[in-house]
Amino acid sequence: VGEVSIKENQMSKIYNFCAGPAVLPTEVMTEIQQDLPNWHGTGMSMMEMSHRGKEFSEIAANLETETRELLKVPKTHHILFMQGGATGQFSAVPMNLLRGKTQADYFNTGHWSQMTMKEATIYCQVNEVANATKEKPYCIPDEKTWKINPDSAYLHYTSNETIYGVQFNTTPNVSLPLVADMSSDIFSRPIDVEKHGLIYAAAQKNMGISGVTMVIVRDDLIHEPWEKTPTILRYDIFAEKASLYHTPCTFGFYVSYLMMKWMKNRGGLEAIQQVNERKAKLLYDVIDEDDFYQNFVFPEHRSLMNVVFLLPSEELTKRFLEEAKKIGLLNLEGYRTVGGIRASIYNAMPEEGVTRLAQFMRDFRRTSI
Ligand SMILES: *Cc1c(COP(=O)(O)O)cnc(C)c1O
Repeated sequence: VGEVSIKENQMSKIYNFCAGPAVLPTEVMTEIQQDLPNWHGTGMSMMEMSHRGKEFSEIAANLETETRELLKVPKTHHILFMQGGATGQFSAVPMNLLRGKTQADYFNTGHWSQMTMKEATIYCQVNEVANATKEKPYCIPDEKTWKINPDSAYLHYTSNETIYGVQFNTTPNVSLPLVADMSSDIFSRPIDVEKHGLIYAAAQKNMGISGVTMVIVRDDLIHEPWEKTPTILRYDIFAEKASLYHTPCTFGFYVSYLMMKWMKNRGGLEAIQQVNERKAKLLYDVIDEDDFYQNFVFPEHRSLMNVVFLLPSEELTKRFLEEAKKIGLLNLEGYRTVGGIRASIYNAMPEEGVTRLAQFMRDFRRTSI
């Protein structure tokens, strides 16, 4: 059944612009399908195997090796695979990294920043370093205006705001340990891991399926967790046990491993970044041609992953979504509090899909004004 549906998908050319869980590469889907009932001649599915067994241990080790290579993670940093999503990390970060301090600094750049700040207030005083969404166009404020508190345990930022379409285009330069939620732009471009104390990402946008959460953390930060931290959220324990403290999301590990191989085959993160820049430009160019489509983010901070825009009326938005769906462009509705359109164009979205959307946007505008 699966094989037929993938082929049908290709024939009718469905493009899925969902923000997450998001589209997976066809090549990865095909490999999963082939492996599913019988992993490499074992007669068992990957889903049925012990997480302590030889086959799965190899996958877990390979996943770590490939991740380290793709992201150029230095030896000073552990790579951990945990559960609980990015949301779990909203709690795990203060629990593990406060280390006796009572304050932490946070950039407020949109919805996800606000969610993580709210969770952190359970554990410490939260200082807002800067606010990117006070007025439109949304813009990450200039470094000179940042209110950094030297007594804070760390500084947190959300590298890409999945809902508002605001993205940091450089790594903030600060002396506090730098913590980043990279759930929606991890693996979309090379990153300077060394500048970070901790990076976390839920897998379901750019590196697999939901159920796996990646944490890259510098060794010196993990050894004084708050004594009431649940063991399942302790970085030191996950580092010691190579992420196998308990039964992990085994199938999710396997899918992420396939994603790493796929990204490597595409030429690594420099090559992937070039494609992502080309894809985003296709859409922002259409938006900037006139006032029909409105994007409300300062050009330098526009997201390469989530292109958000409004149409002149709700009626037109509704019609846009209906007509897009008819030609196979799916899941373009904006987040419920933002409205409008959101096109999520993660690594696995083919360039043809974005070209099709750009063409549709031009056609729709021409027939609507
Ligand atoms: C999707 C997303 C989250 C939430 O991830 P969960 O796995 O649902 O907890 C958090 N932060 C960002 C930036 C996201 O894109």
